[in-house]
Amino acid sequence: MKAIRYHEFGEVEVLKYEDVPEPEIGDNEVLVHVKAASLNHLDLRLRSGKSPRPVDLPHIGGLDISGDVVKIGKNVTGIVEGTRVVVEPAVRCGKCRFCQKGESNLCVATKVIGVNLFGGFAEYVKVPGANVVPIPDNLSYNDASTIPICSVTAWYGLIERGSVKLGETVLIHAAGSGTGSAAVQVAKLLGAYVIATAGTDEKLAKARELGADETINYNKSDFAEEVKKITNKNGADVIFDQIGASVWDKNIQSLAPRGRLLLVGVVGGGSVPANLGPLIIRDISIIGVTVFNAPRKDLLAVVNSTSQGRLRTVIDKTFRLEEASLAQKLLEDRNQFGKVILNP
Ligand SMILES: [Zn+2]
Repeated sequence: MKAIRYHEFGEVEVLKYEDVPEPEIGDNEVLVHVKAASLNHLDLRLRSGKSPRPVDLPHIGGLDISGDVVKIGKNVTGIVEGTRVVVEPAVRCGKCRFCQKGESNLCVATKVIGVNLFGGFAEYVKVPGANVVPIPDNLSYNDASTIPICSVTAWYGLIERGSVKLGETVLIHAAGSGTGSAAVQVAKLLGAYVIATAGTDEKLAKARELGADETINYNKSDFAEEVKKITNKNGADVIFDQIGASVWDKNIQSLAPRGRLLLVGVVGGGSVPANLGPLIIRDISIIGVTVFNAPRKDLLAVVNSTSQGRLRTVIDKTFRLEEASLAQKLLEDRNQFGKVILNP
């Protein structure tokens, strides 16, 4: 089969479109014929060797996979050949104390498809039978491939970790990203007043189309000052932040008393000299969010909400598998709005 594989870390040039052996499934696995695999910034960090997550070389990336089940291991039940599926990327061990007590989403030995295991930037991928979720007929492969990382991050972050309530004000950074555009919609579904930030007016116009009530161009104005104005000096109840260190101080300034800062990513740096006083004085919570701890029910809820039209998938562009370098470059340059997808 054809796959996008890299044998060394580096720029997009290390991505090779090449022939690799078709995966042989074990008794508990299924083979998925990949129809769509969407890109994430994690794919870029893994390829460049800058991710703290260890990757064995050569590697095939791709965490967000949809396709058809074409082979089924003999221990796998409840699925038939030809089923259209989306793949849950986190593979649980089934043995650790969290798996044993029914909280496998917190599994301490989680392996991630596309990170620790070969991913979906290939014609075929093998995954545990427990990791495929059938998708409704009205959900396209492309739409489904946008869900497991970005949309579930938004859902798990805002609902389970952030406990966003009706009427609260939520500030969402990087609303032009796949995760940001999903977060705007999930926050609106929850009845929040949404302030979105992005670096261009075009991205902000699209964030408004998705439901953002207020928008801030962080290249033109100071978002902390704008949040103060918009909220009548009250601040935001929740901040959904994928940026990290470079916006830390302004995030803390922008939070209301009892505010919750959801740390979803650290593309703007992962280390800050924190001034702890304001956190105590204003009862501020700093909450980490990792999609790999999201329970299966969140993936199911997002698949249903998308199929029912309550969440829109936002797709910037699709590429053929052999165009993986172009696709990763587009994401790297942050010129996209929404998801970038490979179609093997
Ligand atoms: Zn476990």
